[in-house]
Amino acid sequence: MNIKKNTLFISLLWTLLIAASCTWNYTQAQKAQEQLALQTARSIFNHIIITRRWNAQHGGVYVPVTKTTIPNPYLEVPMREIQINDSLTLTKINPAFMTRQIAEAARAQAGIQFHITSLHPLRPENKATEQEEVLLKEFEKGVKEAGLFIEHDKKTSFFYMAPLKTEKACLPCHEKQGYKEGDIRGGISVTLPFTQDNSLGSLLLAHIGIALTGLFGIFIAGLRLDRAYSIIQRQAAFDSLTGISNRHRFSELIVTEFERSNRVKGPLSVIMCDIDHFKRYNDTYGHTSGDKCLRQVAQEIKKSLTRPGDFCARYGGEEFVVILPDTSHKGALHVAEKIRLNIIKLQILHEKSPPLSVVSLSLGVATSTDQPLISHEDLLKNADSALYQAKANGRNRLESYSNMENNPKS
Ligand code: GH3
Ligand code: MG
Ligand code: MG
Repeated sequence: MNIKKNTLFISLLWTLLIAASCTWNYTQAQKAQEQLALQTARSIFNHIIITRRWNAQHGGVYVPVTKTTIPNPYLEVPMREIQINDSLTLTKINPAFMTRQIAEAARAQAGIQFHITSLHPLRPENKATEQEEVLLKEFEKGVKEAGLFIEHDKKTSFFYMAPLKTEKACLPCHEKQGYKEGDIRGGISVTLPFTQDNSLGSLLLAHIGIALTGLFGIFIAGLRLDRAYSIIQRQAAFDSLTGISNRHRFSELIVTEFERSNRVKGPLSVIMCDIDHFKRYNDTYGHTSGDKCLRQVAQEIKKSLTRPGDFCARYGGEEFVVILPDTSHKGALHVAEKIRLNIIKLQILHEKSPPLSVVSLSLGVATSTDQPLISHEDLLKNADSALYQAKANGRNRLESYSNMENNPKS
């Protein structure tokens, strides 16, 4: 298991997830803003239509003539002006004129612009812009309304436009132009100043925060998992008491080495080591001293091995096993003797172990070339037989399987 790779993969997945969530939320928020802008613009448009309808229903309304409200030259109706007295003249305001005046007031007060326009305007100011012209043509094809964000002078606005339909109240003035009830006479465009919602920035910041917190969590969890995994791996391969490899690790390695030696047709030697009279050692010095002795012996065996491929493990209780790849029987005997002497040199007092009264080892040596071997188990069995022989022959000694009487080769 590669924890680092997995952590990286999870981090990547997490980042993608947050990025996807951010994108989705951002799109939703934008859609909501667009919807809000559309509804606001639509409601302003409807408001204009209602005021226009009210005006048309009254056949226009009279207001005092002022500097800003001068009689409409395009309004050709009887009694366009009514002189009330010397200081008051009233002039008729039709829906179009009224819309223009409201538009000016709205622009001055709230920056909202609306423009009454048509493909064939009577008044030059009502001429459609390029965009309005495109939309007016679309309305004639049946399009009901249009709304979009536009950029002007580095400012964003929402532009809305809908057709202006001829209503019954409009006919008295517009029938002579050939319009019937329901005909599209033009359109009104509404342009709203649009301020970008700050929540989009907060949304992005919140997602970055969540992403970083998550990544930190994943990193910490990955680190802890990596440490825990190293400990588990160590525990799976090493003996906790002596610190050298355990039997599980040995069982894996002997298979690999046996196969390799068969492949390269080279020798593979194994040494089985067993502490002499160790039960007596425990009985005499106690179990804790016994454990300490096991540690010393294990470390000494390890130290006695010099080649990089040499390997030792605790086989069980007070037994150890050594694997010597590419080592002839003669070479293995040499290593075994070195181990035996090194253990004696430790001079660990063992009064009940005759004849030296120090801790000693019995060793059994076997080599794969001793006889045609079928499996690594045979090799171990041979080393074990040799060890048994060493015990039988008086301990603190080594025996080699190839010298044993029951060995067909000897
Ligand atoms: P021999 O010379 O025939 O090998 O005699 P021995 O007493 O060493 O052999 P035996 O198999 O009778 O006893 C092995 C002893 O090793 C028994 C047990 O108390 C001891 N032993 C096994 N594992 C441990 C361990 O982890 N710690 C300690 N302190 N003693 C252990
Ligand atoms: Mg034993
Ligand atoms: Mg023993």
